[in-house]
Amino acid sequence: MRGTAGGRLIIERLANGLRVLLGTDAIDDRVRRALVANLYARPIAQVSGNLIGLGCAAVTAWASDIRALDFLAAALAGATALRVTINIALPRLAARATRAAERAYGIATFLYAALVGLLAAAANLLNAPPAVQVLTACYAVGFGIGGAGRSAGRPQIAIGQLVFATLPLAAALAIRGDPASLATAGFIVLTIPAVCSTVAHVFRLLHRSIDAAETSGQLAERMQQLANTDVVTGALNRAGLDQQLRERVAALAPGQHLALLWFDLDHFKQVNDTLGHQAGDRVLAQVGKRLGEQAPDNAAVARYGGDEFIVACSIAGRREALLLAQRLHEHVTAPFRLNGAAPTDRAESGAAGAPMRVGTSLGIALLPDDGAEIAAVLQAADLALYNAKLNGRNQAVCYDPAMTRSMAVRREIEDELRAAMLREELSIYFQPIIELATGRIRAFEALVRWFHPVKGEITPDQFIPVAEETGMIVSLGNWVTAQAARVAATWPDDVMLTVNLSPAQIKAPGGALGILTALRSAGLPPQRLELEITEPVLLERNGGTDAFVAGLGEAGVRFALDDFGTGYSSLSHLSKYRFSRIKIDRSFVSGSDAGSRGDATIRAVAEMAGALGMELTAEGIETIEQARQMAMLGCTLGQGWHFSRAVPDYLAAMLIAQERDSPAAVRLAS
Ligand code: C2E
Ligand code: CA
Ligand code: CA
Repeated sequence: MRGTAGGRLIIERLANGLRVLLGTDAIDDRVRRALVANLYARPIAQVSGNLIGLGCAAVTAWASDIRALDFLAAALAGATALRVTINIALPRLAARATRAAERAYGIATFLYAALVGLLAAAANLLNAPPAVQVLTACYAVGFGIGGAGRSAGRPQIAIGQLVFATLPLAAALAIRGDPASLATAGFIVLTIPAVCSTVAHVFRLLHRSIDAAETSGQLAERMQQLANTDVVTGALNRAGLDQQLRERVAALAPGQHLALLWFDLDHFKQVNDTLGHQAGDRVLAQVGKRLGEQAPDNAAVARYGGDEFIVACSIAGRREALLLAQRLHEHVTAPFRLNGAAPTDRAESGAAGAPMRVGTSLGIALLPDDGAEIAAVLQAADLALYNAKLNGRNQAVCYDPAMTRSMAVRREIEDELRAAMLREELSIYFQPIIELATGRIRAFEALVRWFHPVKGEITPDQFIPVAEETGMIVSLGNWVTAQAARVAATWPDDVMLTVNLSPAQIKAPGGALGILTALRSAGLPPQRLELEITEPVLLERNGGTDAFVAGLGEAGVRFALDDFGTGYSSLSHLSKYRFSRIKIDRSFVSGSDAGSRGDATIRAVAEMAGALGMELTAEGIETIEQARQMAMLGCTLGQGWHFSRAVPDYLAAMLIAQERDSPAAVRLAS
């Protein structure tokens, strides 16, 4: 048993060795490439070896006058030229067409070795001068052995080269038949297995070390790739993008631009909150996939953290960047199912299997136009993105230098508004709302005022949006309600208070409670408060809005629809919520839309409001003519500078007192 196992092992070893020597063993392409490159390495050494061969041929031709030797010497010179040419021309090919390079090297080497062998054999058999015999024999054996060592990376070439160079000489010596020649032939033949074994050994060492280097190189490459890739989406991560940006900026040709498109998914938190984080991850993966598919081939697509993605690519100009942004936006926001299929219907959202779509805001900036450095362009794209969100989200916006300025102003307002609330620089003014038929004061609208000690008055249009973005509006709104309610509590019971309400106050947890608490602390019955809300709030309809309106409505608070006619006017809101009043926006009364078309709108709304039992207020009445016109069109209430500007609380009290004494003071002249 043991004997057969040992025998099998030896046979296996021999077969392996043979495979190695014949070059039929399976080796990895990368390893083969390195081994073949090794053949072509150090061409100077190879060329100098060939020059020795050339010298050998020249001496042979010169020192003997045997025609066959001259012919072989000439052929050897030709083969030398071929080898040198291949050695110089092919190293570059070795990297691309490994097998062709290997074959070319093999054929040239075999041809050369055969000529070397034949020259030595012929010199011997044809009785060339002894010096020539020694020279050619030495060269044949030296070339055979030395060359085999050098070509050990491809063993079949090494062995072939050895055999072709030495066997003809050994055969010639054997033919001569004298004992010394026979002994020399024997020695030469015996060196062949010894050299083969050495070649196999060197090959194995080379193979192993190249293999190890390749593996660790591949590993390092893979690690690098992993370190630069986002796990959830497979896109680049922040580190990967940074690296790409650095490379791309360095490679940017003069006149070329690098576009940065910064995507931020709208309301992504809601996806996470309502459908879970796994679903959120799937949405992110889907967005990453779509960007990867639709972005130009040369683009870098990265997830820049959270729900933000950046696409970077070289581009001709701003117009092209905007077109690309629009195309990508369209694809990212197309509906999809979380389970993978792409539905064609246009549902807004849904559970795991239902079609959903995510809105995306997008900021665009170009290098070098919007900043000479990556950091500056990123900042510009971020600012553009911020403006895209500000303009109502789900759109692409290009950077504009004015954004930097308005941003600075905004930041300043934000900082100062905090201080102003603490220092009590804010106050509330009241503007009367008049019953057009009688001139009686029916209500006052509370309007916040900010008198800055240095900058003078800062208008609500400047600071309310900032307060809304930063969330400060919630505490500011509650403060306004509480202060105004305290003042209103001192008025006669039939004078209402109206307060403007921001969307953030509706969405804030405990928003309704904040308002009820303010009323209670001021001692104003909820029935005397009317909250003015604008339509966009109602567009973002959800359970929260309904609960807010219902909760306060039950307590007795009323609601007015403010700025009607601007934005997305939709009469459907009128019947859905129980508004007690509609305020026609001042652009229809004294602004750009005033006139016959505005009048037609007002008339239509008045009719509908009347049918639904709502009152209609005209805002921004500046002249007596406007007041008459609005009354004629069906508005029951009016507000505007014609009656009074917004005034401090003590003047509001005086207006009430005056009107109660003689209503005619503010009554409409008829
Ligand atoms: P709004 O609710 O439409 O308020 C009416 C605005 O029209 C006020 O500007 C008022 O001063 C102005 N106005 C009144 N009569 C006339 C007129 O005859 N002609 C013209 N051209 N304008 C007139 P104001 O006080 O600057 O407020 C601007 C906006 O700021 C308000 O628009 C409202 O949306 C917001 N706002 C003001 N105070 C508050 C507040 O306490 N909370 C919230 N959330 N928003 C407020
Ligand atoms: Ca208002
Ligand atoms: Ca208004």
